[in-house]
This record gives sequence, C-alpha cells and structure tokens, in this order.
Amino acid sequence: KPIIELRQTVKSYGKGEATTYALRGVDLKIEQGEFVAIMGPSGSGKSTAMNIIGCLDTSSSGNYLFNGVEVGMLSRNQRTLLRRNYIGFIFQGFNLLGKTSAIENVELPLLYRGLPAKKRHILAMKALQSVGLEHVAHHTPGELSGGQQQRVAIARAIVTDPLILLADEPTGNLDTVKSIEIMNLLQSFNKEKGITIIMVTHENEMAKYASRTIHFRDGKIDDANGIKEIL
Ligand code: ADP
Ligand code: ADP
Repeated sequence: KPIIELRQTVKSYGKGEATTYALRGVDLKIEQGEFVAIMGPSGSGKSTAMNIIGCLDTSSSGNYLFNGVEVGMLSRNQRTLLRRNYIGFIFQGFNLLGKTSAIENVELPLLYRGLPAKKRHILAMKALQSVGLEHVAHHTPGELSGGQQQRVAIARAIVTDPLILLADEPTGNLDTVKSIEIMNLLQSFNKEKGITIIMVTHENEMAKYASRTIHFRDGKIDDANGIKEIL
C-alpha cells in the first residue's frame, strides 16, 4: 500500500461568498521510499497539501490515508501521535531554538516522546554524526552557518526515525553550494534509510534530486505538466 494517498482532497477556508478553495480535488499516491518534489506557483495549494500530509491540518472533504490509515477518522491526539512518531519536518527558515545548543535542539523530539536523558543524548549525537556535525554539538544556532543550521534541523527531523520527511523549501535560504550539500544529504537519507521525502521547491535545480516531480496549479495537480516532462 502507498505510504501517502490523497483521494479527491478538498480544502476550503471561510464560508459563503468568502470561501477560498486551497485544494480543489487532489488525487495523489506516494509509495514508501519515493523522493517527490512539489512545484507550482505561489497560492497553488502546495503548503496546504503539505500541512494535510503532515497531519498539521485536516481536509474539508475527501480522504487522506497515511500508510493505509484514514487520518480523518483519528482524534486530534491520535493525529499528534502519528505526526510525532512517523513524520519529520524541515523548513526554509530552519526553525531551531536560538538559545539552545545544536544537540539540545536535536533532542527535543525525543523529549516529547519521554525518552530518558542518556538515551536522548546518544540518539541525538548519532543523528548529528549522520549530518557531519558532531563537532559543533554544543554550539548554538547563531554560531553556525545557514547550511549547518539546516543540517541540525535535518538531524532533529530524522532523530525519531520517521517514515516520511516533509521539507518545505529546505534550500530557500541557502546559496547554491550549500543547497547542493543539503540535497545530497537528503538523497542519501532517502537511498540508505529508505525514508520517503516530499519536498516543496521553486528551483528546478533542486527538483532534479527527486525521483518524481508533481506540479500544483490552482489547487489541483497539473497532469499536463507531467506529460510535458515525458515528451
Ligand atoms: P502555496 O503553498 O502553493 O503558495 P497555499 O496552500 O499557501 O499555496 O495557498 C493556497 C490558497 O489557499 C491561496 O489562495 C491562499 O491564499 C489560501 N489560503 C491558505 N491558507 C489559508 C488560510 N489559513 N486562510 C485563508 N486562505 C488560505
Ligand atoms: P504540537 O506542538 O502542535 O504538538 P509538535 O511539537 O508535535 O506539534 O510538532 C511536530 C513538528 O512540527 C515539529 O518539528 C514542529 O516544529 C513542527 N511544527 C508544528 N506546527 C508547525 C507550524 N505551524 N509551523 C512550523 N512548524 C511546525
């Protein structure tokens, strides 16, 4: 079964004449181990789709199945547990806690899970090693470069061993050299750990690292664009 399946997913905001449709019937299947890039103009529904896939928000109608589980049928608490246990997030702005060391940032999701201090430290150090940053474990984000901060964020996202990693313009704040570093890292986690990656990007250069690109337009998946790629 697919790890992600959206069936006729609709998301609207507001009521009556003020209703905005962010998603207008999205059908999407993503298999475990895929690396998918999501592209499309501003306002086309990419963030809304990512929020639904990440269980941060729910759809207005349609179905969302995560590993075969109907997410719409879960309680808010169950959705939070699903998110914390199976989904990792990285963002354009890194979203690290500024006054807290790299390793403490990476330990945070483990703290939420109630792991004891010693276990947290071991797992967080291992995650920092996997992104090549064990030597700056006790530095704060302000003491690190943008590329290093994003690598800390990746360590934080993968420390819980999630099934999927959602990346929202992960290289949007980085220069080309650092962006390529981040993409190589994501690709290695995808290949070696089999983690499914879904990444929003505006850059064709970065989308090339994915095994498939999906184009959004006006709240729908633009299949015509996919055909263009084949031809
Ligand atoms: P993208 O990520 O592709 O830029 P979004 O998913 O953010 O697109 O937005 C899709 C549409 O939904 C836009 O028209 C946007 O204005 C609207 N939208 C998104 N979030 C909200 C919200 N919380 N309230 C009202 N409208 C929203
Ligand atoms: P909550 O505090 O709602 O229970 P979690 O702490 O479980 O959420 O968050 C899971 C992941 O999602 C974390 O990496 C967190 O930083 C991220 N996250 C949650 N909501 C948002 C948001 N609105 N914007 C950015 N990141 C978010």
